[in-house]
Amino acid sequence: MDEIVESGWREFVTQEFGTLTATDERDIAEMVVDEPNRHLWRVVDAAYDRLTCTECGNRLSRGPAGCTGCDLANGFRYVAIEIDRPGVPPGNEHALRVNISVVRRPSGISWREVLGRRLFLPYLLDGYLPTTRQAQAARALLNVGGTAEDLAEYLNLAWGGDRTQLAD
Ligand SMILES: [Zn+2]
Repeated sequence: MDEIVESGWREFVTQEFGTLTATDERDIAEMVVDEPNRHLWRVVDAAYDRLTCTECGNRLSRGPAGCTGCDLANGFRYVAIEIDRPGVPPGNEHALRVNISVVRRPSGISWREVLGRRLFLPYLLDGYLPTTRQAQAARALLNVGGTAEDLAEYLNLAWGGDRTQLAD
C-alpha cells in the first residue's frame, strides 16, 4: 500500500529534481506539504510520510485520532490533486485515495470500515469503481459477518469482469 504513494513520490522527485539525498527529500516534503493543493495526492501523502508530527512523534498525519497536528494534516491532504488513471471510471482515483488514507490511518475508524476499505483496494487498483449501491451492499455483507471471500464473490458477481457497466 505504501508502494502506491511511494511510486507517485519517486516519479515526482525524479522528474522535478533528479537524484536526491534523504535530507533533500525532507526539504522537498516540507515544500510539498506547504502547498498541498499544487501536488498530486500520492506526492502529498508520501511527503507526510517523510515528516514527523511535532506533537505525537508519529509520521505526520498518521498519529492517533485527536492529535491536533495529525488531524490537521489529515484534513489538508484532501486539497491535493487527483487525476484518474487512463481507462478507469471517473472517481476511481478519489475512491482509491480515500481508501488508502483510511487504511493507513485507521485510528478512530471502526475496524469493519477499515476492513471493508482494505478489501476494496485491489478492485480499485484494477480500475473498478463500486456504485453507491454496491458499496452499501458490500458494507452490509461485512456487517453481518461476511468474510473477504464473501465480498470477493459478491463483487465478482456484481462486475463479472466488466468495468464499463459500472456507471451508477
Ligand atoms: Zn500527531
